[in-house]
Amino acid sequence: MNWNDDVKFVKGIGERRAKALFQIGVKTLGQLIYHVPRRYLDRSNIVLMKDLKIGEETTAVGRVTGAKMVHGKRRPYFQMVLTDDTGFLTCRWFNGAQWLADRFNKDDVVAVSGKIDFYGGLQISHPDFDILSDDKSNPINTGMIMPLYPSTQALQSVGLDSRGFRRVLKPLMSELPRIVPEPLPDNVLREYHLLPRYAALEQAHFPDSLEHLEAGRDRLKFDELFFMQLLLALRSSAVVRKTKRNRYEQPGDILESQYKLLPYDLTDAQKRVMHEIWNDLKSPHPMNRLLQGDVGSGKTVVSLLAAAITAGNGYQTALMAPTEILAEQHYQVAVKFFEGTQIRPVLLTGSNTAAQKKEIYKALKAGYYQLAIGTHALIQGKVTFKNLQLAIIDEQHRFGVVQRGDLIEKAEDADVLVMTATPIPRTLSMTVYGDLSVSILDEMPKNRQPIITRLVDVAKLRTVYDFIRQEVETGRQAFVVYPLIEESEKIDLEAATKGFEYLSKSVFPEFTLALLHGRMTSTEKDAVMASFAKNETQIMVSTTVIEVGIDYPNATVMVIENAERFGLTQLHQLRGRIGRGKHRSVCVLLQRKPNPESTHRLETMVKTSDGFKIAEEDLKIRGAGDLFGTRQHGLPNLKLADLIEDADILQEARKAAFAVVENDPQLRKDHHAGLRHVVMTEFNDLLGFAKIG
Ligand code: ADP
Ligand code: MG
Repeated sequence: MNWNDDVKFVKGIGERRAKALFQIGVKTLGQLIYHVPRRYLDRSNIVLMKDLKIGEETTAVGRVTGAKMVHGKRRPYFQMVLTDDTGFLTCRWFNGAQWLADRFNKDDVVAVSGKIDFYGGLQISHPDFDILSDDKSNPINTGMIMPLYPSTQALQSVGLDSRGFRRVLKPLMSELPRIVPEPLPDNVLREYHLLPRYAALEQAHFPDSLEHLEAGRDRLKFDELFFMQLLLALRSSAVVRKTKRNRYEQPGDILESQYKLLPYDLTDAQKRVMHEIWNDLKSPHPMNRLLQGDVGSGKTVVSLLAAAITAGNGYQTALMAPTEILAEQHYQVAVKFFEGTQIRPVLLTGSNTAAQKKEIYKALKAGYYQLAIGTHALIQGKVTFKNLQLAIIDEQHRFGVVQRGDLIEKAEDADVLVMTATPIPRTLSMTVYGDLSVSILDEMPKNRQPIITRLVDVAKLRTVYDFIRQEVETGRQAFVVYPLIEESEKIDLEAATKGFEYLSKSVFPEFTLALLHGRMTSTEKDAVMASFAKNETQIMVSTTVIEVGIDYPNATVMVIENAERFGLTQLHQLRGRIGRGKHRSVCVLLQRKPNPESTHRLETMVKTSDGFKIAEEDLKIRGAGDLFGTRQHGLPNLKLADLIEDADILQEARKAAFAVVENDPQLRKDHHAGLRHVVMTEFNDLLGFAKIG
């Protein structure tokens, strides 16, 4: 059989099992071979039951002392008790209970893996399991390392539990040298001391020793990271090879005049970044730059100064923001910024009427407007520019690659500046944004006061309200933010609406409150924002729509309701809405349903306001894969490798991949045919402008 053959023809699979495998994305023999174990069992990693700890992911092995269906209050479940003579462990399954009940017999030796919790005794719900008793390879007796395969209920019900996978995969191992293609060129294998791919897969399934297992898995991780870096290398070399049609002569008089009119001095970091941008703009190749700066570090003015240079040279700029509220705010800032010049900004969002849009399209095409600010409405098919030269994307992490690509497509050789407030550790930014040059605003404007953050229990709610009252009485303003309760905007809205009614009637009848949420029309939003900007409303009650970008320096209090429901990065973004002026600001994290995990997480917010530290903590909690290793971010999904834990492999993979592209920018050479094939068949959608082969 061959790598790409239908999995149903594999010995021991057949139609029924193939159907179940299809659900986990396994359609071919190759994909089956890539279904590598999640865990392994050997003598060294089995935990004695007396040493089990609540909350830990563990693998335990024991004898079945009892197994039965329990008819609980809600629905029947299957319960099995294991012992290893040092203690007991109960396993419970609520799904597929009957099917499981038929599988286990008294005195079977079973390995179970999962998170230990406490429910009248130590227990695991829905553990991964493995029946070892009738398996000659029981690692406890033989000293072997046994693979434990991930499975699902659907797979288990066709016999593809962990043991089932072992039985199907074992006989394939001797065939691997013939079946498994090797995409990496020989010189890379040699230089980085990598196992051949077939050998790596063999060791990942049925390892000879722990060292071999590690070498095997490292090779597979190397592959994942190598192709990720190869894509970045291809994209970046494609940009470098392009030449701009439009050239910049000088920074221009608009930059000069508007720079002088700024009401503050730029920070040193802003000045440095402006130089970096200017150097890119005047280069013959398009700029492809990421501007990273913590919330409040002053990215907007940098982008407007860049637009001023572009306009001063006679070209157009498009600035795309993820929400209408933010686009609107940028537009207001831009109008003010370009006041007194001949530069005309225009706002284009989904709220424009069809007639308005038509007018705007015509004017953009004619070059009447030099700066178009908007939401994704900017990238719709009908929008064309006279001479778009600078594309700016704010809060780029909110957009998918496709949307980013669409804006850039409006002008193939445009200079691109993407901005983000999601700070990530430097080493990581090099690798996940490896196709971009990175600028960092690592300095806050001087007039800032640190934000004080407090973690507060609902019992202290009165004190919190008193504090808001006090601040408002001295002329300041406040936000009260309600969380996204489910992925449903409706419920989200309900919490905020109820909160708004309660606060305006029962708590702050003497002040003017406003409600802001994503479902309002843009006219309604404008009205709310304008009145808040003028301090006609003192307290803004909102959903998380205010998370990105908005800027009211007079707001000094933010109360975040149900703070335990938010992730750290999002809390940091929200908190960044205050502390933007010269007054001392306070952020109150209100826990309604505290638990040890959320309290610990929220304490990070109390301890630090450094976005980089918070991002690192968030990475630890959520894992880098979750944040960056996704197609949404324009990168391949990672299954085995972890961007942080495998940083050393990442460095090597990066070096290897960039060397390949340096030497063969379009992968045309014969010994790169394997690479070209993988890129074209698996990652074609992630190539961007890079063209190969
Ligand atoms: P972000 O980087 O989060 O997008 P903004 O661009 O919205 O931040 O800037 C936050 C606030 O800081 C704005 O009110 C802006 O006018 C102000 N600001 C920007 N640069 C400076 C500076 N160098 N000195 C003082 N205030 C500044
Ligand atoms: Mg911003």
